[in-house]
Amino acid sequence: MSKFYDVIIAGGGVIGASCAYQLSKRKNLKIALIDAKRPGNATRASAGGLWAIGESVGLGCGVIFFRMMSANRKRETQGAAVAVDASTPHILPESFFEFALQSNALYPALHRELKDNHGMDFKFEKTGLKFVIYDDEDRLYAEHIVGCIPHLADQVRWLDQAALRESEPSVSHEARGALEFLCDHQVSPFRLADAYIEGARQNGVDIFVNTNVTGVLHHGSRVTGVQTVEEGVFHCKTLINAGGAWAADLSEWATGIRIPVKPVKGQILLTERMPKILNGCLTTSDCYVAQKDNGEILIGSTTEDKGFDVTTTYPEIAGLVQGAVRCLPELKDVNLKRTWAGLRPGSPDELPILGPMRGVEGYLNACGHFRTGILTSAITGVLLDKLVNDEPLPLDITPFLADRFAVAPVKQASELELA
Ligand SMILES: Cc1cc2nc3c(=O)[nH]c(=O)nc-3n(C[C@H](O)[C@H](O)[C@H](O)COP(=O)(O)OP(=O)(O)OC[C@H]3O[C@@H](n4cnc5c(N)ncnc54)[C@H](O)[C@@H]3O)c2cc1C
Repeated sequence: MSKFYDVIIAGGGVIGASCAYQLSKRKNLKIALIDAKRPGNATRASAGGLWAIGESVGLGCGVIFFRMMSANRKRETQGAAVAVDASTPHILPESFFEFALQSNALYPALHRELKDNHGMDFKFEKTGLKFVIYDDEDRLYAEHIVGCIPHLADQVRWLDQAALRESEPSVSHEARGALEFLCDHQVSPFRLADAYIEGARQNGVDIFVNTNVTGVLHHGSRVTGVQTVEEGVFHCKTLINAGGAWAADLSEWATGIRIPVKPVKGQILLTERMPKILNGCLTTSDCYVAQKDNGEILIGSTTEDKGFDVTTTYPEIAGLVQGAVRCLPELKDVNLKRTWAGLRPGSPDELPILGPMRGVEGYLNACGHFRTGILTSAITGVLLDKLVNDEPLPLDITPFLADRFAVAPVKQASELELA
């Protein structure tokens, strides 16, 4: 039997879940969230860093990657290169800073709201992020970062060796100091996605799990619904593509154009619980390390161009372990609990792909969040809610429109039948 909705969200990772939650707060729209939970779903793989400045200036997995390319010294331990230009320091454009910082600023209120109204605590922790400096190359990169963000000077703090050891006593004596980003914090990514979904469910959203969207319905240039294997046809006024690393298929079915989203593999590992050894999150040129609220330590992550492969591999995991033990020597005796890999939805310029596409009605992108989808899920949900309801946006999304890429249509939207 056909189902009728105002909005259908295809993809139930953190991005689709945030869109569903924000839209559901209006209580006047009939909304369905459809998800198939494919192996490699990025939200389940994530570290949960809200590293708004850190990620914007190429830290997190970015610095590992940049250093691998520039110094050639990590080649054996990290994956193959994707979308990084070795000749330029990897600092994202101002539009991304704005996007990331606005999203970051939403978290304290979002945390209270989901906890108080829906009983869901996603463990927002004010930790800061420290870029640990081992050598001159690290220091030069840190100085370069500071030079690029004078407008954020009040959010950045230099720590010399003594100050670093005072704030993080477990850090190796090899560390000479750190550059700290004061507004970069962390959450539990699994709990964040669960909180959005539970909030949406309590607000009346219909949630279809284990349901594969296999085609998109059209009337002329308007998208009118989706076909699923398990639940048949759904009709809608607006379709939101939140398909993560699989978003190109959905866009092709909906618009005739494959948006350039591709999977970027990240391997990561988790230790058993430990007494608290970290006060904040750390990132180094080898890895990042984040102790979660329950004492487990996440050590991530590789950046690999391996298609939809989600195997975990010894050299990459060993490289991350060596990097973590170098930074925190007491990790040498701790047991690993689990390793896994996820697929970041990467775009060629590392910016998300948001909003409408020219010539197609009833369709919006919410994809391509690459390595910051946990951080930027909050603002993405707000933006998509406003786009659906045709209201003014809190920031200019022109830099994030799919039209910035010159992509030839596979088919004209008006020629598309059920794809
Ligand atoms: C190792 C690792 C560490 C990371 N660490 C961080 C971090 O610290 N901070 C941060 O901000 N970000 C981090 N990220 C990035 C972040 O996880 C992603 O940007 C984010 O999860 C993307 O969310 P998404 O909802 O777009 O994609 P996903 O979480 O992959 O969700 C997409 C969903 O859509 C479903 N889907 C796709 N097509 C269909 C279809 N046709 N029918 C039905 N369902 C479909 C998929 O099965 C999937 O469940 C990390 C990623 C990795 C891999």
